[in-house]
Amino acid sequence: MKRPFAGETPGDDELLHYITTEDPAETEELFAAARLVREEHYGRDVYFRGLIEFTSHCKNDCLYCGIRRSNSRTERYRLSPEQILDCCRAGDGLGFRTFVLQGGEDPWFTGDRLCAIVRDIRAEFPDHAITLSVGERSRESYEALFRAGANRYLLRHETADSAHYAAMHPAAMKLSARKECLYALRDIGYQVGAGFMVGTPFQTPQCLLEDLRFLRDLRPHMVGIGPFIPAAATPFADYPPGGVDLTLRMVALVRLLLPRTLLPATTALGTLSPDGREQALTAGANVVMPNLSPQNVRPLYSLYDNKICTGDEAAECVRCMSLRVRASGFVPAMASRGDSRMPLEAAAEDRKISA
Ligand code: SAH
Repeated sequence: MKRPFAGETPGDDELLHYITTEDPAETEELFAAARLVREEHYGRDVYFRGLIEFTSHCKNDCLYCGIRRSNSRTERYRLSPEQILDCCRAGDGLGFRTFVLQGGEDPWFTGDRLCAIVRDIRAEFPDHAITLSVGERSRESYEALFRAGANRYLLRHETADSAHYAAMHPAAMKLSARKECLYALRDIGYQVGAGFMVGTPFQTPQCLLEDLRFLRDLRPHMVGIGPFIPAAATPFADYPPGGVDLTLRMVALVRLLLPRTLLPATTALGTLSPDGREQALTAGANVVMPNLSPQNVRPLYSLYDNKICTGDEAAECVRCMSLRVRASGFVPAMASRGDSRMPLEAAAEDRKISA
C-alpha cells in the first residue's frame, strides 16, 4: 500500500494535496496510515475525559459561538464550586481519571476562585488529571493555577491564519495573544491542547495548512479538531457547517505530523454525523470526552445548534461511549489517566513521519 509521506517531512504542496483530496482511495490510505501510527504509539486504547461545562457566561464575543456575550437569547448558568466538586465526585465514581473544567470566560471565576476550586479537587483526587479550558488569562494566572494543581490546559487556537482569525473574532481579540498563551502554558509545564474548527466561514485550504504548520511548531500534547456548526443568534448563524470528511482528513494529517499527540473524537463531529466520532477513531483519534455536567444545564452550554448528549445522564454517556469505542474495534481505557506521550524536547524522530 502506498503510504502518505513515508519517512519524510511533507512539504506544503503535499499537505495541501491531502487537505483537498476527494479521492476515496487516497483518503483511505491517509486514514490507514494514521491508524498505524496511532497504534504504534498508543495501541488500541481510547482515553476518557469527564467534561464539566461549568459556566456559560462569557465576556468574549467570538462570531461563531453560541454563548458569545452579545447573544441575549441564550439563558446563562454558572455552577457553584460545590456543584463542580460534586460533578468530579460523580465522575470519579464512574471511573474517570481526568476532569476537564470548561467554560466561557466568566469574570466571576477570578484567579483566586478558580485556584480554590482546583486546590479542592486536587486535595480530594490527588492522582487525577485536572484539565482547565477557560480561555485567555495572564501568565501569572496560569502559573497560579498550575501551582494549585492543574496539569493540563485546553485552548484551541481556532485558526492559525491571522486574517482568518480577525474575520472570526472582534477586533480586540488577536491571534498573537492566543498563541502567546499557548506558548506560556507549555513553558509553565502544562500538557497543552491546541486545536481548530474546520469549515468556519472564510476558511481556505491555505488556512488549514497554516494550522498544520503552527501545530508542527507548537507541538502540543493534544489537538482538538471539530467541524464548525452554526449557532442560532450569532453572526455566523446562516453559514453552512464544516465538512465531516475534511475534518477527518485533518485529524489524520495531525496524527501523521505529531504521532504522539492526543486527538479527541469531538462532540461536534458526532453532532454532524451519527458515527462521526467512530470515524474519527478510525482516522487516528484516541480520546473521547463524555459529558459530566449536571443534566439540567447541558442544553444551556449551547456553543452550536443541535449539540448531542444534552439529555443523557453521565452514566449513560459513559456506557454509550464505551459501546461506540468497542464497536469501532478499540478498547475503552477508563482506568488510565491517558497522559500524552509527546516528548518534552522536539525529538528529531518525531519530526520525521514514521508511517
Ligand atoms: N472559553 C474557552 C472554551 C471555549 S468553548 C476557550 O476560549 O478556550 C470550546 C470550543 O468550542 C472552542 O474553542 C471552539 O473551537 C468550539 N466552538 C465554539 N463555537 C463553535 C461552533 N459554532 N461550532 C463548532 N465549534 C465551536
